[in-house]
Amino acid sequence: MHLLTGHHGGRTVFGVARDGTLHDLSGRWPDLATALADGLGPIADAADDAPTISLAEVTLDLPIPAPAKILCVGLNYHDHRAESAAPAGAEHPTFFTRYPSSLVPAGQPLVRPAASTELDYEGELAVVIGKPGRAIPVADALDHVAGYSCFQDGSVRDFQRHTSQFTPGKNFDRSGSFGPWIATPDEVDLGAAELTTTVNAQVLQHAPIKDMIHSVAELIAYASIWTTLLPGDVIATGTPGGVGYARTPPVLLQPGDEVTVTITGVGTLTNGVVDEAR
Ligand code: MG
Repeated sequence: MHLLTGHHGGRTVFGVARDGTLHDLSGRWPDLATALADGLGPIADAADDAPTISLAEVTLDLPIPAPAKILCVGLNYHDHRAESAAPAGAEHPTFFTRYPSSLVPAGQPLVRPAASTELDYEGELAVVIGKPGRAIPVADALDHVAGYSCFQDGSVRDFQRHTSQFTPGKNFDRSGSFGPWIATPDEVDLGAAELTTTVNAQVLQHAPIKDMIHSVAELIAYASIWTTLLPGDVIATGTPGGVGYARTPPVLLQPGDEVTVTITGVGTLTNGVVDEAR
């Protein structure tokens, strides 16, 4: 299943996207995160009898518009560690957070801030939590996954490097993106899936998801040691090598660019780029 949230006729709708149609579950649950708490089986059953809307008439929102947590993982691929001059090994994953206000849905432009010319792309796999949990064992971790999405961890590099903390550089308003939908685990083979990031159709990142240093299950287990994972929480799992600032010459995002993140079995997330209005 593909699960999404959007807007239609002045109201928020969400549910199962199938063959160009949204099976709208907004009469059954208050939002998609709440529906995920009940499990994918009840969502599939409810979709069969739900009112339908043409997807062409739906303006996409973030798949989960206001996650309780957006956890992001840094430096989780060997080639990105190398290009970032980070030590080769990593006993523990690097976690930081993003706010929902730093993300735009599929189809809406990323905003290059007035304060910087160093907006960079990072294509990533996002994990969306379904079943809540704390201190989740690695062996059980994938049972807590509702599905996967594409994530663009847009980064303002100069602000990322002002101090040792990533928060400012990773949280400029509308600098990243998340979507277009959540693909349920039956749609996705993490052992075979590949991530591709393009800017203006030029391939700049291409890597197997299985090249991650800390796996999806390991990330869930580690994060849940210190925080209760809730339905709708998002974990962006890190970007592979090929980011813009590490290229010679650097490739930093410009107004008019188009950034696309594609993951096998998950979907395609496309966003333009505009300059912040002054
Ligand atoms: Mg990242």
